[in-house]
Amino acid sequence: MLSVIIPAYNEEKMIGTAADTISGILADADIAYEIIFVDDGSKDGTWDEIVSASSRIQGVRGLHFSRNFGKEAAMFAGLSDVRGECAAVLDCDLQHPPEKLVEMYRLWEQGYEVIEGIKEDRGKESAAHRFAANRFYSLISGATGVDMSSSSDFKLLDRKVVDTLNKMPEKNVFFRALSFWVGFRRTEVKYRVQERTEGESKWSTASLIKYALNNISSFSSAPLKLIIILGLIMMAVSVVFGAISLVQKFMGQAADGFTTVNILLLFSASIIMISLGMIGFYVARIYDEIKGRPRYIISDRTDEK
Ligand code: UDP
Ligand code: MG
Repeated sequence: MLSVIIPAYNEEKMIGTAADTISGILADADIAYEIIFVDDGSKDGTWDEIVSASSRIQGVRGLHFSRNFGKEAAMFAGLSDVRGECAAVLDCDLQHPPEKLVEMYRLWEQGYEVIEGIKEDRGKESAAHRFAANRFYSLISGATGVDMSSSSDFKLLDRKVVDTLNKMPEKNVFFRALSFWVGFRRTEVKYRVQERTEGESKWSTASLIKYALNNISSFSSAPLKLIIILGLIMMAVSVVFGAISLVQKFMGQAADGFTTVNILLLFSASIIMISLGMIGFYVARIYDEIKGRPRYIISDRTDEK
């Protein structure tokens, strides 16, 4: 059986369509399935839609979060609840074409354990967004050693991979990178990002920045290395400036040195601030992990556990 996990946040208009489309496609392809909607603490009628879809369509069920915990948490809640031999994750807005599930499933039958959905293009987005996304992906790609620029959360995973992911103790997880990190026999399926038909994107610029920073700090220590590089540059600069001021002092032109001192002071203060900020970020991350709180809280479900 294939378990399809669908994170949904304020998607009341999409639940019914998504459930019908996906169950239709999988039934036509003769694939046994279950569809797990994870309501990420929606404020609209998403949960009611999930409940009605689950009573209307065989194999559809839902989990309800007590509040919004984010898409990563929703995906992991789905993963820890799958009953199938493999599980796929896709977006509720059908921007990940569900027809591809069939192709992915056939590859799984051939023995692949991780089938990645790879974006052929990134769909419509602004230049600033594209620039930021590219920077983010180059950092993450550097940390994982795999090109992540066209990766997405659209994947099909074998049960073994799902179990491995479920066993990971860390609370702050980045699904997309973690599924690369675990290894296993992998292959790719290319797809085109579809237009969203109903509702709107749930990501504001602020939430995207937070998402990027969290994922960078949970996956890469590059920012910490950057501090060392900044420190080294600073040291070289100080040596040069120090030598110049000394020479000036011995030549009796010490008053000129004020500029140098000012520059040095401002420069080093800013680097110290940046560095402290970065370290603070990692300390916050450690604090989060050490508290050991659950990734999410399930307040309701359509079936019995
Ligand atoms: N989503 C979620 N929790 C959130 C934000 C989004 O579960 O806090 C879900 C959303 O319902 C959708 C998927 O994540 O199924 C992708 O969200 P969206 O379409 O808004 O993102 P975009 O396609 O613009 O990247
Ligand atoms: Mg979308």
